[in-house]
Amino acid sequence: MAHIIDGKSISNTLKEELAQHVAEMAHKPGLAVILVGEDPASKVYVNNKIKACEKTGIRSIEHRLPTDTTNQITEDLIRNLNKDSDVDGILLQLPLPKHLDSDRLIQLISAEKDVDGLNLLNVGALVANVDGMVPCTPQGCMILIKSFVKDLNGLNAVVIGRSLLFGKPMAQLLLQANCTITMAHSRTKNIDAVCRNADILVAAVGREKMVKADWIKPGACVIDVGINRMENGKLCGDVDYEAALEVAGAITPVPGGVGPMTIACLLANTIKASRQGKSANFIIN
Ligand code: NAP
Repeated sequence: MAHIIDGKSISNTLKEELAQHVAEMAHKPGLAVILVGEDPASKVYVNNKIKACEKTGIRSIEHRLPTDTTNQITEDLIRNLNKDSDVDGILLQLPLPKHLDSDRLIQLISAEKDVDGLNLLNVGALVANVDGMVPCTPQGCMILIKSFVKDLNGLNAVVIGRSLLFGKPMAQLLLQANCTITMAHSRTKNIDAVCRNADILVAAVGREKMVKADWIKPGACVIDVGINRMENGKLCGDVDYEAALEVAGAITPVPGGVGPMTIACLLANTIKASRQGKSANFIIN
């Protein structure tokens, strides 16, 4: 029976450490959260992030804009927040309404306040293995992996999914930890065989229970990033969890695995942003 990696408990420990850290800071970090529109899931995520900030002692500054907000208004807001010394981190909740130019707006957030790690300077910093903002979910996954796998050197790691938000930075972090990386995606041939080679298997696709037990190498560490709503209304991941429990060495549940770590790492990035100082020569616009 696999060890269940308890993301909720690990994230709570991390959040307590962060709260202690903030308590000792003279300048309390501030996170500006921009939510455009009425997407119900985004509202829930934003509310959870704001609550987590409050508990940690981080100031949250909310900007809730109506669905018909223009690119110009959103752009002006981001530019003002970039200049505002009370704001250390800026979170633009995705997805934005379709009429907004997400790619452009994301890149307007200055790299030093880019707590999501999506500014191309931060993307480049990760690839170059220099200090920058690392996207929250892959950062959280590394903590979960390291809680079970003590020595990552030379292990085979397979990441299913190649998004800029998750798959690519996840692969970079595993590479930095000296794993041998394979990235799988929708065009990958014999994906089950590819996965069976993984000592560490990370699934971030968004397809309910796609990864079957016989895709998993016995003893492997399985990280399930997917969030899928089943017909019965409950959440499940990309891995067939119950069956995988019999084969994997360790596995994250959904919910209660990766999700809580994402928020904890957002708090960590906000604290990091506030410590960088305003003089970092890291600003793109
Ligand atoms: P995304 O941008 O839609 O990327 C999905 C990836 O899956 C793509 O690279 C796609 O390949 C690949 N894919 C699609 N069908 C596939 C198949 N049949 N076989 C193999 N690969 C396939 O999604 P994302 O933003 O990375 O998120 C992925 C999942 O993680 C979603 O369920 C999302 O909700 C979840 N997520 C959770 C958290 C969290 O905090 N827990 C954070 C981020 C994301 P192509 O590139 O070839 O199209």
